[in-house]
Amino acid sequence: MLAERMKHLSGSKTTGMRNLARKMRAEGVRVVNFAAGELDQDTSPSIKQAARQAIDAGRTQYTDTLGISELRERLAQKVTRKTGIQYTADEVGFSAGAKQALFNAVFVLFQPNDEVIIPAPYWVTFPEQVRMAGATPVFLPTQHHDFQIDVDELAKCITPRTRGIVLNTPHNPTGAVYSARDLEAIARLALQHNLVCIFDECYEELVYAPAVHHNIVKLVPEIKGRTVLVGSFSKTYCIAGWRAGVVAAPQPILKAIANLQSHTASNTCNIVQYAALAALDPANDAFVAGIRAQLSTQRATALQLIGKIPGLSCVVPTGAFYLFPDISELLGKSLKGQRIETVDRLAELLLEHAHIAIVPGSAFGADHYIRISYAIPAEEIVAGLTQLEQFVRSLA
Ligand code: PLP
Repeated sequence: MLAERMKHLSGSKTTGMRNLARKMRAEGVRVVNFAAGELDQDTSPSIKQAARQAIDAGRTQYTDTLGISELRERLAQKVTRKTGIQYTADEVGFSAGAKQALFNAVFVLFQPNDEVIIPAPYWVTFPEQVRMAGATPVFLPTQHHDFQIDVDELAKCITPRTRGIVLNTPHNPTGAVYSARDLEAIARLALQHNLVCIFDECYEELVYAPAVHHNIVKLVPEIKGRTVLVGSFSKTYCIAGWRAGVVAAPQPILKAIANLQSHTASNTCNIVQYAALAALDPANDAFVAGIRAQLSTQRATALQLIGKIPGLSCVVPTGAFYLFPDISELLGKSLKGQRIETVDRLAELLLEHAHIAIVPGSAFGADHYIRISYAIPAEEIVAGLTQLEQFVRSLA
């Protein structure tokens, strides 16, 4: 009954683990949820206040597809500031999370026969969206370079069918932050081969010193005409469920995105648009700095504890809020006679016996890794990683 295109589309594994953990919690089991892709924290009072005011002011109407003009003006100013290149309001738009912005971009840019390069491990949704557009994802392995992109290897992935590359820095799930030197080289390569660059910087504010986030347009201004910048309010402002994302692209691409969105979701929630406007107020910079400082401390705690677990090795992440340890040494071991053949089985046993939810690396195209989010209260990090250590030590 279903259309052909749905045959290979499965639900997001990250959502799956999150739901399973929630269900166990509802049943009274104390589960430490390392599987969440969002902050476990309240948003700032001024953002909440702006949403309430929008309701009280009767902001019930449809808006322009890509957002109210005040918001687009502010977004354009922000993108101009961070790229050092002029972006106008008709080169930016507001979407229902970065996910919608990414889907729109991929859908208007790629088609059957096109190849799109995605560094692997990758955020679950990137390849699925490329496939939904009928194009083919081509994976560039990064495990052997501490999750950084080797530009020579990237060049070897380019064929006459390559149309684009999806970059994500800071990176989910690895926490890698790409260097200015690599991004510059990637941009030059993209220009040389006429590739479109989708640049997902959802975690741009969550980078830990001395690491620094670099925007590709700022580094190589000529790439602006071939780049779609995607950002999110979800992580930075703790409003993941409100669905607030941003896209910046050259006008012809943005126009196509507006046309597509006008026939799908139309505008995003009107109230959230006013909340986003308040979020962009400089008064909220301190809120974001607080989140970053807190995550930085939690990262240190998590890294220290994971370092004590035998059989796990972890590249130090410098951005986002995930650890992505290699668990190869655990595969083939057994728990009470049950052999752990795959990372998926490991995830099940961890939930069942250690009461911790993680996301298996298989969700990200990396079968020998697990993703652990440290955006949860410090005491939960300590409890959960202690349980993980006990679990690992009990394996035979
Ligand atoms: N891009 C990356 C790399 C992400 O990790 C996520 C969410 O986890 C998104 C995009 C989607 O974010 P949003 O909540 O804004 O849709």
